[in-house]
Amino acid sequence: MQNAPLSKRTFLGYLAAVPVGLAALKGLDLGFVSTASAAAPAAAPAPTGPFALPKLPYATGALSKAIDKQTMEIHHGKHHQAYVDNLNKEVAKDDKLKGKSIEDIVYSVSKYPAAVRNNGGGHWNHTFFWNIMTPDKTEMSPELSAAITTAFGSVEDFKTKFEEAGTKQFGSGWAWLIVNKSGKLEITSTPNQDNPLMDDAKVKGTPILGNDVWEHAYYLRYQNKRADYLKAWWSVVNWTKVSELYKQAKA
Ligand code: MN
Repeated sequence: MQNAPLSKRTFLGYLAAVPVGLAALKGLDLGFVSTASAAAPAAAPAPTGPFALPKLPYATGALSKAIDKQTMEIHHGKHHQAYVDNLNKEVAKDDKLKGKSIEDIVYSVSKYPAAVRNNGGGHWNHTFFWNIMTPDKTEMSPELSAAITTAFGSVEDFKTKFEEAGTKQFGSGWAWLIVNKSGKLEITSTPNQDNPLMDDAKVKGTPILGNDVWEHAYYLRYQNKRADYLKAWWSVVNWTKVSELYKQAKA
C-alpha cells in the first residue's frame, strides 16, 4: 500500500482548528503563533497549547518551482506539527517553561532538556523558514545587495558559499545567513534543529535567511541530490522579507 498524501480536507480541517494569534521576535513579524491561554482543556488527551502550528503564507503547491506540494504538506502538516506538539508536551510537564515565548526558550536553550532544544528549535526554525519563502518574484533591497557584495564578493559568490554550507552540513541541519554581533553578514550552519540565536551556538547572530537541509525538506523530488535542492531553492526565496529582516537586524 502506498503512503496516502495528507488529504486536502484533513489539511484544511486542522488549519481551521488552529487558534491563531501573531507574536513577534523582537519586533520582527515572522508569523510566530501562540494561543492566548496556556491551559489545555482538562478532558484533552494531549496539550493543545501554548504553541500552535502557524498557517503557511501561501498554498502548499505554490512553491513547486523548487519544492513539491506533497513535501510542503508533510513538512508543514506533519513535521512542524510534531515539533509543536512535542514542545507543548514539554511545557505541560515543566513549570519553568510556563509562560515562556518561543524566543525565551531559544535564547536560553542550554538551560533545558534536549527535547526542548530539538522541538523548540524545530518550531522556531520552521516558522522562520515558511516566512522567508514566496511564490512571487521578489528583489533584495539595495542595502542588502551591497552588504552581500561587500561580505562575499558578489551575490553569485554568496549563493555558492551558502549552498556549500548546506551541502557540507553533515546529516540533518540548517544553513544560515546571519547578521553577527559586529553587524556583518556571515554564513553558518547548525546541526539538527539548532540555530544561531541559541545561547550556546558556536556562531551566533540574527538569522535573516535559512534553508532546511534535513532530508525531509527535499527527498521526494531530489532524493540524495541536496546540492540540486539548494540551487533550486533560490527561486522561492522572499528577498523582500529577507531585506526587511536585514534592516531590522541592523537597526
Ligand atoms: Mn524541516
